[in-house]
Amino acid sequence: INTIGVLTSGGDAPGMNAAIRSVVRAALAKGMKVVGINRGYNGLISGDIHEMTSKSVSDIIQRGGTILHTARCLEFMEPQGQQRGADMCKVFGIDGLVVIGGDGSFKGAEKLANLGINTIGLPGTIDLDIACTDYTIGFDTAVNTAMEAIDKIRDTSTSHERCSIVEVMGRDAGYIALWTGIANGAEAVLLPEKENMSTEALIRMIIENRNKGKRHNLIINAEGSNLDSVKLAKKIEEVTGISTRATILGHLQRGGSPTAVDRMHASMMGAFAVDLLAEGKSNRVVAYKDGQYVDYDINEALDMKKSMSDLRYEVSRVLSI
Ligand code: ATP
Repeated sequence: INTIGVLTSGGDAPGMNAAIRSVVRAALAKGMKVVGINRGYNGLISGDIHEMTSKSVSDIIQRGGTILHTARCLEFMEPQGQQRGADMCKVFGIDGLVVIGGDGSFKGAEKLANLGINTIGLPGTIDLDIACTDYTIGFDTAVNTAMEAIDKIRDTSTSHERCSIVEVMGRDAGYIALWTGIANGAEAVLLPEKENMSTEALIRMIIENRNKGKRHNLIINAEGSNLDSVKLAKKIEEVTGISTRATILGHLQRGGSPTAVDRMHASMMGAFAVDLLAEGKSNRVVAYKDGQYVDYDINEALDMKKSMSDLRYEVSRVLSI
């Protein structure tokens, strides 16, 4: 491999910069040339590609977001767009590519691998929704950000003896919800992966909690669950008379300085990706599984099904009484 390209694609996640920095510096250390590709596959197709030096990634390890910007690229979903991407790699002499993103981005990476470009995927998403890995870059920061925000909501909710519904991100996955459910001591967690309490059951729980003397109720609702946070808050207030507020945390969960955990994994995974390319590997995804950094075939990784830990879910329920 002479020249490695690096891009970030799909939703951004804190720690992506640490991963970019790691790819750039690990490749330079091996005597390779590195180019940064802006705005995901959009920049690849349009040739928004520039050489990166050790200095181009200085002072970014602590920054959220991605210095390479990210985008979704419809054109790249079509074979013609993918061919243009592969052609552009040839024009810029890119013979190895690191794609930092989620499942969708890996599908794009697989297409490029089939067109002869050696590609490696790094799991970057706050959602933790990639089946082959126990960890995705950005998850730890997002959970900590959500946890701190929920602590603040809880303070005021306790003072006013309110019920709070807090909606957290995760798209179709409930990991941020489950983790904050345990970390914030929620009374209930609503997840896309599980059969959730009905609105009636939640109302019963809130009334029982009031009778037990609880001064607040915190319900964490994953954005992909079957219940709408605002409607649920309205219904609870209507039926119980307890003042209830819905807070949708939204994009604040995607930003912020990455935690040490995110910086560490992103740095290790970036260097691992460069090692794989140096060994001539292609069409692989880097994962963290059972305490080890490993790699899987992209197709195999995309076929895996994620299953949420029943143990964590059970514990979240046991501790909510
Ligand atoms: P996140 O989970 O954070 O949203 P993601 O990588 O899953 O990240 P997507 O929007 O699904 O986000 O994909 C990002 C980009 O990857 C798409 O805009 C497109 O350019 C490319 N991509 C997605 N699916 C495919 C596919 N089947 N074939 C080729 N390219 C794809």
